[in-house]
Amino acid sequence: MTALAGTPRHEVRPTDQPPEGASSPDAKPIVSFAPRRRGKAPAHLADLDLPARKSALKDLGLPAFRADQLSRHYFDRFTADPEQMTDVPASMRDAVASVLPPLVERVVTQRADGGTTLKDLWRLFDGATVESVLMRYPQRTTLCVSSQAGCGMACPFCATGQMGLTRNLSTAEIIDQVRQAQLACREGELSGGPGRLSNVVFMGMGEPLANYKAVIGALHRLINPSPEGFGMSARSITVSTVGLVPAIDKLAREGLAVTLAVSLHAPDDDLRDELIPVNSRWKVGELLDAARRYFLATGRRVSIEYALIKDMNDQVRRAKLLADELNARGRGWAHVNPIPLNPTPGTIWTASTRRAQDAFVATLRDNGISTSIRDTRGSDIDGACGQLATAVKDSLRSAEPNTSGRKQGTR
Ligand code: SF4
Repeated sequence: MTALAGTPRHEVRPTDQPPEGASSPDAKPIVSFAPRRRGKAPAHLADLDLPARKSALKDLGLPAFRADQLSRHYFDRFTADPEQMTDVPASMRDAVASVLPPLVERVVTQRADGGTTLKDLWRLFDGATVESVLMRYPQRTTLCVSSQAGCGMACPFCATGQMGLTRNLSTAEIIDQVRQAQLACREGELSGGPGRLSNVVFMGMGEPLANYKAVIGALHRLINPSPEGFGMSARSITVSTVGLVPAIDKLAREGLAVTLAVSLHAPDDDLRDELIPVNSRWKVGELLDAARRYFLATGRRVSIEYALIKDMNDQVRRAKLLADELNARGRGWAHVNPIPLNPTPGTIWTASTRRAQDAFVATLRDNGISTSIRDTRGSDIDGACGQLATAVKDSLRSAEPNTSGRKQGTR
């Protein structure tokens, strides 16, 4: 790691106040990979690949071709209710219902940004809650999904992190967030009328690579063509991580070519150890090496996410250090996304000044680093992991139940 040069001005440290949502002033972030709950979601058709679906239906006494038929209902028409499947004989509907249990029940929906953002809070079978956010842009519609209930990574700026990890989501619990978003798009629930879901990002609640197996299953269901899955382009899917190095290498070997986003937020271990506690396990250098290997294995340019936090990580010397670290590993393999935080008076997690932001970006560009400031609408989905989930939770806390007037429960 390159040494930081120059005389430091006053810097805000992540330890200058208790973590967001901490229950006591002296709370310390503690990383955990062990879920508090062991319960598994009911088995669902979307947990399985097509051959396994055929075999599951056979066990229920149904012919194999029904697997294709049910899969098309679910992945093409976004229907999970057997009663709406008029081509399924009434005598089979109970058996069909047993492989399509309702998994995510809508608790509340909040509309924002003139109706181009839908924030959903979902209740799972065991009462755990997760969030997803659907956002329409001129050129794309993006869904941010949760992969865990809670999170064990304990980032001090993220209230989800202070809740700890409740449990991992199943593949189908992740996929059903997507199915419901597909349906919302098709039915024109976002402003602008009916459309199509084009992008999925794993930047909601949880560290996706800490729930590796279920997330890989979900990626297959997203990418594989009908009737196996939704048939989305791998290029339009982003998996975000705070830096689980062995899992990044494993993901590179999957041959999926999804985009990897690294929530870096600091180029030096001194600051990142406090900002992203898992950095004590895998240092910045190891993380960037793994990100570079991901690029080499997949040909996909890696996104480096960098939330600009006033007087904490927004100094020009850190921009220079970040550029040096990236350039030391080659040219053109990474793209930096500085993310301006929303101003939050009274906390240390507040927006950089415009001047600091401009100087940070200019330094990266002057040093040959491809850089674009993220759209911060709703703490943009391609932004910092967990910030969005926290913002959603905060806004939902003050929202009346079911503010959209949409029916609760599965659709
Ligand atoms: S920022 Fe992301 S990885 Fe960190 S605690 Fe929050 S949800 Fe987990």
